[in-house]
Amino acid sequence: MNATRKLLRRVASVPTSDGAGVKLRRSLGARPDLRLDPLLMLDEFYSDDPRDYLAGFPPHPHRGFETVTYMLDGHMRHEDHLGNQGDLGPGGLQWMTAGRGIIHSEMPQQTEGRMRGFQLWINLPAAEKMQPARYRDIQADAIAELTIEQGRIRVLAGRLTLAGRAVAGPINGEPDTLSTDPLYVDVRLGPDERLDLPVPRSHNAFLYAFEGQIAIGGSRDGKGEVLDAHEGAILGAGDHVTLEAGPDGARLLLIAGRPIGEPVAQYGPFVMNTREELEQALADYRDGRLAEPV
Ligand code: FE
Repeated sequence: MNATRKLLRRVASVPTSDGAGVKLRRSLGARPDLRLDPLLMLDEFYSDDPRDYLAGFPPHPHRGFETVTYMLDGHMRHEDHLGNQGDLGPGGLQWMTAGRGIIHSEMPQQTEGRMRGFQLWINLPAAEKMQPARYRDIQADAIAELTIEQGRIRVLAGRLTLAGRAVAGPINGEPDTLSTDPLYVDVRLGPDERLDLPVPRSHNAFLYAFEGQIAIGGSRDGKGEVLDAHEGAILGAGDHVTLEAGPDGARLLLIAGRPIGEPVAQYGPFVMNTREELEQALADYRDGRLAEPV
């Protein structure tokens, strides 16, 4: 039976800062109870003022989940204790599995101009939290783009079948099989265009508008269904979502994942299942044992 996913809950993006003072807007994760299993956090950074981003994200630790950075504009350089170096440019993607521990930095490689992109945190199940850290740097041209009548879709992770064509993102199955099986797409729609986007029934789904207006559920007439730019929405159950762009077109992220269903204990950049495991992570970090020796 086909079922349309409705807007279940609006999630405002809250201005905040992170790293050494980078200004950003946080939607998921803005409050401890505002997660959508397995999605822990979504930040949007967007500024033309270097003072908002120059300080960057100097070396800091993570344990127990994955961080996914998607750049739209600007350049950042990633370095981590494993010796990975990555240049994140417009349209590029960085997928980092922190696992048992990683210490990394992300620093702007520009002193002027626009810096714009997203950072998403995806949880790992208990059985996978202490795996060795892994890092994948995916350049813009390695990301499949599907051009359709209504606009275009970039598939960052997972698989999408639309208009008779199947597209797979660079993070999709071996060697990147993730038990959360994430679907992560960047959708651009022309003015007033309408699109039915399939979303696996097994997944929780979040939508984040970042340009223009988007109506969820097929009609902008239905009150309370229109999302403005920089606004998110948790979607209800179903196997697809119907989107309709406003008169200026729209751009949005659709992020979905299979729920883990385990307790979440979080302290800043450490996400575990219990308070004891958090204390262990803090002790390991303090004693220089957080991350795998190189
Ligand atoms: Fe980080």
